Amino acid sequence: MAEVAPFPLPVPEIHVWVAYLTARCNYACDYCIQKPQMIPGQRRKPWGRYQELTGRQWVDALNAFPVRPEHPLILTGGEPSLHQDFAFIASRLEGYTLDMTSNLTFDIDALAREMRAHGKRFVTSFHTYHPKFARPEQWLEQAERLRDSGIVDQPTFSMVNLQRFPHFRDDEHDANLRRLTELADRRGLLYQFNEFRGTHMGLPYERSQKHAIDCTSAWVNIDPEGNVFNCQYHLTERKHAFGNITAIAACRPLPKMGEFFACQDFGYCDPCHENSGHGAFRDGQGQVFRRTANDARVYLKWMEPAAIRAVAQRYVVQGNADEAEHALLAAIGKERDAGSDGAETWADLGVTLYDIGKKRQSLAALLHAIDGGITRTETVASALLVARELGLLDHAKATILRHVPAQVLARIEAAVAAVRSESLPARS
Ligand code: SF4
Ligand code: SF4
Repeated sequence: MAEVAPFPLPVPEIHVWVAYLTARCNYACDYCIQKPQMIPGQRRKPWGRYQELTGRQWVDALNAFPVRPEHPLILTGGEPSLHQDFAFIASRLEGYTLDMTSNLTFDIDALAREMRAHGKRFVTSFHTYHPKFARPEQWLEQAERLRDSGIVDQPTFSMVNLQRFPHFRDDEHDANLRRLTELADRRGLLYQFNEFRGTHMGLPYERSQKHAIDCTSAWVNIDPEGNVFNCQYHLTERKHAFGNITAIAACRPLPKMGEFFACQDFGYCDPCHENSGHGAFRDGQGQVFRRTANDARVYLKWMEPAAIRAVAQRYVVQGNADEAEHALLAAIGKERDAGSDGAETWADLGVTLYDIGKKRQSLAALLHAIDGGITRTETVASALLVARELGLLDHAKATILRHVPAQVLARIEAAVAAVRSESLPARS
């Protein structure tokens, strides 16, 4: 009797099965983790176009697997609801514990009707608010509609925590987020903040270097055409497929979690895999590691000085002057490389340095800004205040008088004399 090959996909609970129904999305978030090289301010969509399997093909293939009942399966994308047969797939899969991730832009009532008609539910679901693409009221309404629809046992509503990453925020983002949390609190919608998965080991996912490593992963990733991969990088690059769900008997077995295999592509891995905790790496010395802390600073390399100054300002507002200093120095470096003195940035730096107690450097930066032509009252006043505290008033005035008429300086000095310095005047 011919020997039956074992089922090729690992099924222990630790493995996560993910069906990427589409790689399309109706949003384009600059922090989209489905792209490497997240660049602040640059709109990014998921990774590409496919000859997507039809709903019937998905359902026939997955329902034929001999590993059920109740195997967890995540329906995702891109935005999975853009698949023309999303409701059909969700409502016709048999024997899976279903989860979905979606930005909530689909017709919830229509999906609910289909799910109810076939006696189906999602066990969990995950929905992130993307402040640049949806009004708070609009998203909240959808979230409440889904919560109350009864088709998901445990929906999770979330936002990406960009507190440490002002590079990916602007005023519109912050205002929408504030409004959303206010409304959600008032209306009793529970939400959480998700970790931002933008960097790995202090570096952005920029795919600049690739090297060999041992890897173990707990992913079964199925692309929109049904091809099976063990990590998202290989999925998005359509590289090293193990087989296809529509011909599962011909699929090579995927490694089990904990079973290390050699990979030449470390460094090109995607955020989703590396930061998920569902995989690990082993280096040449036999050290097993997952990931180290995020490092927000890496994003500055892609930003223009004006945008970096805005990041620094947001750092100041949230009380993180050290990071503001670092950002402003990076902006000054860029401005210098572009042949500009960056006097405005020096003025911002002077105020920031004062905030963190570096008063001598603060004075030097403020005087440098004045030398560079920034003679606004607040900059001159700041320099005078710091100089007074340091006992260097005459020195500061000598510099200022090279750029500011004596009467103007006298007027500012008189105003400053009445002030007790605890903080410097607002920046530009
Ligand atoms: S909604 Fe999600 S998948 Fe779409 S661009 Fe934004 S982060 Fe990426
Ligand atoms: S090392 Fe990176 S690219 Fe290679 S299999 Fe693991 S996650 Fe994928």
